[in-house]
Amino acid sequence: MTEHYNRPSAGTSSTIEDHIVRVRHRLEQALDAAGRPVDSARLLAVSKTQPASAIRAAYATGQLAFGENYLQEALEKQQMLQDLPLEWHFIGALQSNKTREVAEHFEWVHTVDREKIARRLSDQRLGTQQPLNICLQVNVNDESGKAGTTFEALPALAESVLELPNLSLRGLMAIPAASKDHETQRLAFRQLREALSRLQERFPEAPLDTLSMGMSNDLEAAILEGATLVRIGSAIFGARPTP
Ligand SMILES: *Cc1c(COP(=O)(O)O)cnc(C)c1O
Repeated sequence: MTEHYNRPSAGTSSTIEDHIVRVRHRLEQALDAAGRPVDSARLLAVSKTQPASAIRAAYATGQLAFGENYLQEALEKQQMLQDLPLEWHFIGALQSNKTREVAEHFEWVHTVDREKIARRLSDQRLGTQQPLNICLQVNVNDESGKAGTTFEALPALAESVLELPNLSLRGLMAIPAASKDHETQRLAFRQLREALSRLQERFPEAPLDTLSMGMSNDLEAAILEGATLVRIGSAIFGARPTP
């Protein structure tokens, strides 16, 4: 049931509007096929490398949540879009020297994979702000050199994050190894879902309600396996310029 779609070319605001409407339709169909309520997963628009004008075009369709990977680029766009009530998610690689600005300028961080980073984010989150929402990134296929904790290390990491006062541990995130095979895609997502279930059993008081998984090419598989937040870039904004 893998759905094929034509990767949109980067373009005008009207094409962004068309594409986001199409992605929402894909999401609804996938939820329906999975027997899930239409409001049980939300769309994060991944706007890395896209200009502020592209974010405005997506906002015009009602999109409020945006994901960014590169801190300086994100901060510049946040400045330009201060007039909009947007919710910003940091989904990029996170080094220690970047944690302060991420803690102050984002509502969510999806890429926490070690205690040191979590501790810094908690220490640097301002007391006047709501707790920062955190997903722990898991290296589901155990790929060397790839970000993310192992399944084995997850309970201990979750336990230490739960003790940090200015963080709210919301769930897990993964970027599985790319595969065109639907069953292979599902297997990785299923493993993440099962890992979240184990954490929910172990920490019943924790606000663990989020599975951040599924991108433009594997949204359907992720939804079948319980994704509550899909991170979609190119299917909305078109192919990214190659750096
Ligand atoms: C770029 C990116 C996405 C979006 O990927 P697409 O294939 O363009 O939908 C999702 N998640 C993360 C972490 C990314 O870096």
